[in-house]
Amino acid sequence: MSAPVIEKPALRAGAFGNAKALSCRECGHHVELGPHYACPECFGPLEIAYDFGTVTREQIEAGPRNIWRYKALLPVPDDIESSPNTEPGFTRLLKADNLAAELGLTRLWVKDDSTNPTNSFKDRVVACALSAARELGAKVFACPSTGNLANAVAAAGARAGIKTVVFIPSNLEQPKQVNSAVFTDSLVAVDGNYDDVNKLASEIAGEEGGWAFVNVNVRPFYAEGSKTLGYEIAEQLGWRLPDQVVIPVASGSQLTKVHKAFQELVELGLVEAKPYRIYGAQAEGCSPVSAAYKAGVDAIRPVKPDTIAKSLAIGNPADGIYVLDICRETGGAVEDVTDDEVRAGIVLLARTEGIFTETAGGTTVAVLKKLVETGQLDTSLETVVINTGHGLKTLDAVSGAVRPAATIAPTYAAFAATGIA
Ligand SMILES: *Cc1c(COP(=O)(O)O)cnc(C)c1O
Ligand SMILES: [Zn+2]
Repeated sequence: MSAPVIEKPALRAGAFGNAKALSCRECGHHVELGPHYACPECFGPLEIAYDFGTVTREQIEAGPRNIWRYKALLPVPDDIESSPNTEPGFTRLLKADNLAAELGLTRLWVKDDSTNPTNSFKDRVVACALSAARELGAKVFACPSTGNLANAVAAAGARAGIKTVVFIPSNLEQPKQVNSAVFTDSLVAVDGNYDDVNKLASEIAGEEGGWAFVNVNVRPFYAEGSKTLGYEIAEQLGWRLPDQVVIPVASGSQLTKVHKAFQELVELGLVEAKPYRIYGAQAEGCSPVSAAYKAGVDAIRPVKPDTIAKSLAIGNPADGIYVLDICRETGGAVEDVTDDEVRAGIVLLARTEGIFTETAGGTTVAVLKKLVETGQLDTSLETVVINTGHGLKTLDAVSGAVRPAATIAPTYAAFAATGIA
């Protein structure tokens, strides 16, 4: 299978920075850098291969307070900062003492990606995809999405002045629809689930020339953006790796890339090598990776998603098998929680740390709690939990669970009668 060609006479020198080729994750076959995502030999996923040379902490620290401080480690040109983009990243790493105390953990941090430009971690991957689309001469910037990706693509495309077309399942939360439609006049709602939307996108990518689908034909470039989460966690901890990280799993890309980032930092001598465990979090209504983990099998059986955690509702996760490998090899686990636990996770994070997360974050916090309760996570070790999105995008999920404690007449007597004072 050859990917559709995005036409451009010639790539400019250094268009992809230190990236040197696309390399097959399965057989190691090399393909030249371009809009390709599947290995021509074995159909395995293609990944970016680099020749980093020397990269120093000082060089990174002198960079901007966004993901481009790591540009030497990404498939982007050295002059990336001169092109309009959303400049995501360098989000806060919050010491979460209240949540730690509540769960019985000694050291806990929340990496809060809800403060990115469109309020989810997707701005990171989209910024990298936008750079690739630009260098490849794409005319349309597009994606199939469970919501957050559509928001990020539509916003980045607007800022870059490139036409965007974003495809979503038509049952998506209203705030996520509005958050895309405000940036683009080409939001397409498809009657089907994410996997249907994804299939449609692949078909369009094959029919239409010049379209960069961020998570289809430029997926290798896009996926690298998730590494910046791992780089930032290490840098913000003072250039060291945490002991345990809990990460939500949809396609599984983010989890595999945080692991890759940690490995690269060790290889480059930017942090000391040490053991760490990676844990994956899913919602029970879409938990194909967790199910395989628990069954002790290597194959992922696709499911039809049915959960309020819509941003994680990918029934046939492309990187699921790699998530299994990483969680098993590092001594972590993959766990899932019910929708009620997801809601409780949202409220728990809000009331302990003042962070309003979306259902994906509720899933991750609830899984963290379950991992502690089931003894799968070591409470004496330093743990990082990643919050990937903002609660204002999934208000409906908790609007039934949190409401005014009382509705009263504007009198002191009425207030006193509530017992709140
Ligand atoms: C997309 C998304 C994820 C998961 O990303 P994958 O890399 O596909 O596993 C997690 N959280 C939120 C909020 C997302 O939008
Ligand atoms: Zn291959």
